[in-house]
Amino acid sequence: MLTQVLHPSADDYIDADHYLGEFGADATGKRRARCPLCLRHAMEPVVEGGRALGFSHRERATASACPLVTCSTQPSKLRMDHARNIAWHRQHRSAFLAQWQMHYRRMKEQVGSLTVDRLVSLIAYADVVNLWSHPALVLVDVPYVLLALGELFAEPGDPAAAYWVRFVFDGTVRCVDDLWRARSVAPRLYKISYKTETVGHMPVWRDIVSCDDVPFGATKVTLEARQDIRPHAARESASDEAWVPVAEAARVESFIRSGDGLGLVEDPKPEESAPPWEDRQTQVLESLENYAVYTMRAYARRRGRSG
Ligand SMILES: [Zn+2]
Repeated sequence: MLTQVLHPSADDYIDADHYLGEFGADATGKRRARCPLCLRHAMEPVVEGGRALGFSHRERATASACPLVTCSTQPSKLRMDHARNIAWHRQHRSAFLAQWQMHYRRMKEQVGSLTVDRLVSLIAYADVVNLWSHPALVLVDVPYVLLALGELFAEPGDPAAAYWVRFVFDGTVRCVDDLWRARSVAPRLYKISYKTETVGHMPVWRDIVSCDDVPFGATKVTLEARQDIRPHAARESASDEAWVPVAEAARVESFIRSGDGLGLVEDPKPEESAPPWEDRQTQVLESLENYAVYTMRAYARRRGRSG
């Protein structure tokens, strides 16, 4: 159930109380509120004991790509439609890596089990899909973009079932450019948690435990600044020093030293540069596209052994 969804006609979010005030409980047809994830007029208010609790999605178990109702497909991937730009790549990537512990902490606030190795694999993925080349890239958004690129994350739960977490931007964000262009309504990010006893399958709508709106980027920085009287920047730098265990930090530092993410460890001759890069790109893309499935299977095997 969602507490806020898109207004049926206006370009803004609405909660169930306001929706009922405007349309009444029996709203049908095109007056139905829109799902923030698939943008369809599919949200119905949930009323219990006269109280508006939120909205639920109609048409469950469909072949729709909406993660709230799908039973067969997985949500569309976040696209990178911009071209590679080596100068932006270098500038944004090195700015992110200079403060990687701060960004890593942002990600771990959302996924406690996130390891430095997964962080490194996500940065490597961002390298091959040219995330850093976007001219208007906003650094404070990047931890959340990486989470959205990560597809599924395993979270330790009770032994009887596996927990999975997925991050999906609202339906107006098809590619990262949609995050960083001028907009009238700020983009939103949703954290969908799944609990499934069915191993070997990607989670579907019936496995959903919760779907929460996650404040991210500039919105989150503003929220935190309001809640804390200390200057935000001072708090960040003080608490970011060496909170990651030395051995783990060393693995990230070693990855950072290993190259600039352009796939060129040494300066190759111009005619030799293209094929190795393409090979590596394909290799990393394939391995990461299968990553979610591999981690699910590994988790299931471990659980099988311990149980
Ligand atoms: Zn939907």
